[in-house]
Amino acid sequence: MGSLFLLIFNELYPIQKQYNFYICCMNMEQKIKQLRDALREHNYNYYILDNPTISDYEFDIKLKELQELEAAHPEYYDANSPTLRVGGEVTKNFETVAHTYRMYSLDNSYSKEDLLDWEKRIKKVIDAEVTYTCELKYDGASMSLTYEKGKLVRAVTRGDGFQGDDVTTNVKTIKSVPLQLKGDYPPLFEIRGEIVLPFAGFEKMNAERIDIGEEPYRNPRNTASGSLKLQDSSEVAKRPLECLLYSIKEERPTIKTQFESLKKAREWGFKVPMEAKLAKSMDEVLAFINYWDVQRHKLPYETDGVVVKVNSIQQQEELGYTAKSPRWAMAYKFKAEQVATILEEITYQVGRTGAITPVANLEPVELAGTIVKRASLHNADQIAKLDIREGDTVFVEKGGEIIPKIIAVDMNFRSQASTPTEYITECPECQTALVRKEGEAQHYCPNAEGCPPQIIGRIQHFISRKAMDIEGLGAETVALLVNNGLISNYADLYELTIDQVIPLERMAQKSAENLVAGIEASKQIPFERVLFALGIRYVGETVAKKLAKHYKSVTALAEASAEGLIEVDEIGDRIAESVVAFFSEEKNRSIIERLKSYGVQLEISAEKLANQTNKLTGNSFVVSGVFTKVSRTELKKLIEDNGGRISGSISSKTNYIVAGENMGPSKKTKADDLGIPIISEDEFLQMIS
Ligand code: AMP
Ligand code: ZN
Repeated sequence: MGSLFLLIFNELYPIQKQYNFYICCMNMEQKIKQLRDALREHNYNYYILDNPTISDYEFDIKLKELQELEAAHPEYYDANSPTLRVGGEVTKNFETVAHTYRMYSLDNSYSKEDLLDWEKRIKKVIDAEVTYTCELKYDGASMSLTYEKGKLVRAVTRGDGFQGDDVTTNVKTIKSVPLQLKGDYPPLFEIRGEIVLPFAGFEKMNAERIDIGEEPYRNPRNTASGSLKLQDSSEVAKRPLECLLYSIKEERPTIKTQFESLKKAREWGFKVPMEAKLAKSMDEVLAFINYWDVQRHKLPYETDGVVVKVNSIQQQEELGYTAKSPRWAMAYKFKAEQVATILEEITYQVGRTGAITPVANLEPVELAGTIVKRASLHNADQIAKLDIREGDTVFVEKGGEIIPKIIAVDMNFRSQASTPTEYITECPECQTALVRKEGEAQHYCPNAEGCPPQIIGRIQHFISRKAMDIEGLGAETVALLVNNGLISNYADLYELTIDQVIPLERMAQKSAENLVAGIEASKQIPFERVLFALGIRYVGETVAKKLAKHYKSVTALAEASAEGLIEVDEIGDRIAESVVAFFSEEKNRSIIERLKSYGVQLEISAEKLANQTNKLTGNSFVVSGVFTKVSRTELKKLIEDNGGRISGSISSKTNYIVAGENMGPSKKTKADDLGIPIISEDEFLQMIS
C-alpha cells in the first residue's frame, strides 16, 4: 500500500514538489510538537516555579494556535496535550478503582511528648542513626497519580484507602499537575499529593457566588475535594486548584530517602513545596514545628500540621505499618489559633440580590499575624445559636477563610445588663421590612427597585468583566452615576451622553468619551454573556450559557415555564423558579425591551444558529480514538451543536460510542459488556447529515 502510494506520488509530482510536501508535513508535526513543548515549559514556569517568562496574553495566543493546529491535524492527537487543560469532557459516573498501593492514614500527635514516645518506638526497631524529613501537612484532598512512560495515566482519590474514584479527566485540568514529565523519571510509578485551593482563589470564587446570590463555600478544603467530583471538567478547569506532591511509590524503589524523593519529584516537573527540611534529631523536628506553627499563616494555602517521616526508605521498610498507618511517619497537628476580643457592634450589609449579611465589628486584635477588625456572622441562626451579643467578649478563630469567624462567647465577661441580639427586621439602607423564605438561611430586602445598594450592585454586576465587560466604566463610577440620578437601571446606561457624564467627579473629556464608547462597544457582547449580565438570581456564567444555548433568544426564555426549564440539562427547581419570577416582572420585561431597542445582543447570532439542530437530543456519546475527517474537538462540537451530550467514560447511560482509529481496548471491552453500539466516524456524520 505504502509503495503503491509512493509510485503514484512519484508519477504525479516532480522531485521539488515532493520535497516541499515532505517538508510541509514534517514541519506541521514538528510545529505542533514545538508548541506543545513550549506551552509545557511555560506552564511549568508559571505554575511550578511561580516565575513566568511570557505574558498571559502571549501564552493564550500560543495555546489558541496549538488548538487550531490540533483541530486541523487530528493525526497528531496527544492525550496529554497542554490544550486539554481547558477541560470539556463530562463524567457521569466516576469509576471506582483499586489502589495499587494502599493509601494509609497518619498517626496524630499533639505534643512534644507524643513525638518523643514515637521516637522511642522507632529506636526499639532501628539500631542505627535515624534522620527525619519534616514537611507541612497540606489541608486538601489526597490524590494518587500514576505515570507511565512519563505520561499521566490515572488520578484516583483516596476513597477508603483501598479503592478510590477515578477523577483523571478533572485532574488533567489542574495546571500544576504535569501531563508529561521531564528528566530521568522511572518508567512506571505512583505519586501522592494533596489537591488544595489556595486562599486567594477561594475568596475569588466566593465573591462570584455571592454575586449571583449563592451561599458562599465554607472552607477551601471541602471546596477542593468537591471540585474533583464535578461532572463537567471545564468547570474544574476554571477553579484555581493546585496539586502539592509528597510521596513516590515504585515497585522496586530506586530512591534511597524521602528527602531525595522530594528533590527528584521537583526535577520531573512536580510542584513540591520548598519548605520541607531534613532534621537530624527530634530537637530539630521540634524547631521546624515551632517555626511553622507561626509562619504558616503567611502561606498561600491552608496547612493543619507537620508530617514527620523517617528519612531512610530502608528504615521505613523495616518499621512497616500498623493496620491503619505507617510506623515511620507521624502527623503533628497545629492548634487552631484563637484570640479573645470585644464585639463592639453588629452591622448589616445589603448585597446586589438584597441578601443581608451580618458583620461583627471587633476591637482590633492580632490573630495569626494580622490585625483583625471584622468577623463574619453568616446569618441570624448563627447569631442565635452562639447567643452572640454586642459588648460580649468573643473568641475569634482563623480557619480556612481570610475573614475569621467567631466560635464562642466568653460568658465570664458578659455584663448583667446584656440582652439577646434582636436581628434587624428592616433594611438598613431603605427601611423596607425584610423577608426570609422558608428553607433559606439569609434574610432579604425585597425592595429591589428602590434599595440603593441593590440598584448599584445590579449595574455593577452588569458591567463586570465576565458580563458586559464595559471598558472605561468602573464600580465607583456606577455608584456616582446612580447617586447623581443619571441612571437607575442598566438600560439607562445606553442613553448616557458625554455631556451628562463630564460634570461628574474626576471625569475629564477623554474619560467621558471612553465611557460612552465602552457602553457602545458592549452591544457586541454575545447573548450568553448578556443573559449572565441581567443578574437573574442563581444564573451564573455556566447556567447562562446552558440557557442561551437551549432557548436561543431572550424572547423564548421569557416565555418558558418552570416545567419547561427543568427539562434543560442541569437546571433545577431553584433556578427555574428564579428565571420565571424574573420574567414575570413587568419592570424587567420593559428593561429588556429597551436593551433590545438599543441593539444589545438578546439572541444567539444567526451564524451560530445555522449550525445547530436537535437531532441528537437525549443521547449521550463517548468519543474514543483518532479521527480522519474531523478532529476530535470538531467531533465533540458537532455532538453538542446537534443537541447531544458528551461523557468521558462509558456507563449504562451511554447511547453511542464514536470510535476512530486506536480506540482504547478497555473502552471496547466495556462497550461490548454493556451492549453499547460502537459507530464509526462516517456513521456518526450520517446521523447528523
Ligand atoms: P489524616 O487524614 O489526618 O489521617 O492525615 C493523612 C493525610 O494527610 C494523608 O492522606 C494526606 O492526604 C495528608 N497529607 C498532607 N500533607 C502531607 C504530607 N506532607 N505527607 C503525607 N501526607 C500528607
Ligand atoms: Zn433595602
